[in-house]
Amino acid sequence: MKNLILPLFTILLLITSCNDDDNTDNATDEGIATPLSAFDEFNQDAVTISFNGNEITIESNGLPNHTSPYWPDDNPLHIDKVANNTDVLTPGLIGERSYTLTVSTAPELAATGTTTGLGAIGISVTGVPIFNDQEGNNRPIEEVIVETFDYAGAHNGPSGYHYHIESFDVPENTTLSFDDEKLVGILSDGFLLYGRRDFDGSYPTDLDASGGHFGVTPHSDGVEVYHYHIINEFAFGNVIPLFAGQLQGTPNAIF
Ligand SMILES: [Zn+2]
Ligand SMILES: [Zn+2]
Repeated sequence: MKNLILPLFTILLLITSCNDDDNTDNATDEGIATPLSAFDEFNQDAVTISFNGNEITIESNGLPNHTSPYWPDDNPLHIDKVANNTDVLTPGLIGERSYTLTVSTAPELAATGTTTGLGAIGISVTGVPIFNDQEGNNRPIEEVIVETFDYAGAHNGPSGYHYHIESFDVPENTTLSFDDEKLVGILSDGFLLYGRRDFDGSYPTDLDASGGHFGVTPHSDGVEVYHYHIINEFAFGNVIPLFAGQLQGTPNAIF
């Protein structure tokens, strides 16, 4: 009996020391300031950024600076659908909305991740809200939903026009991230979301389950900051969700 108890005690000791190590790592890695030059990437016609002490507020009217079949017919940015080879669209059109997100200037990793809900989980550089990989409760994005996406990976819903997936590689797409290192937007926990590739053009290999890691970004001036990437993995077909994991920081409300 003694022989059994001793190894168990050793295992418990090992588990305890592992946890201690994690805590130590987090303590030194947390709270690095978000590089402010990232906010220059946001569409100034739609998005207003304000700095107040240790908080940044991102406000958007939700009107993207790119073409879409979801613009009203009389809008110069209205085009016919160019992705997915279907003319299936969800009801509704792009219209002015109001999204406000306030985050810390130096967000910290949380002790546990937070599952995202339906609705906006972040604000993209175009001003359009970012949604997760679900189209309803317990209903993941599936083929019939993907058919409704424009080349930007967006469609319209009761709460307005929103992105779910990475944009498509079509000539019409001149600004949105496609298999590159471009900034996609900011998520509600205050961490930035980038495209599939890292600053040096490679696909990051050390991502956590949410697509996050510490590293240099095109905006961080050589400093390693925690940021998310679009995970370079097709959910199905050529569909890549923008963000399908848990938020690794503390989410703030987008209202
Ligand atoms: Zn949707
Ligand atoms: Zn990275």
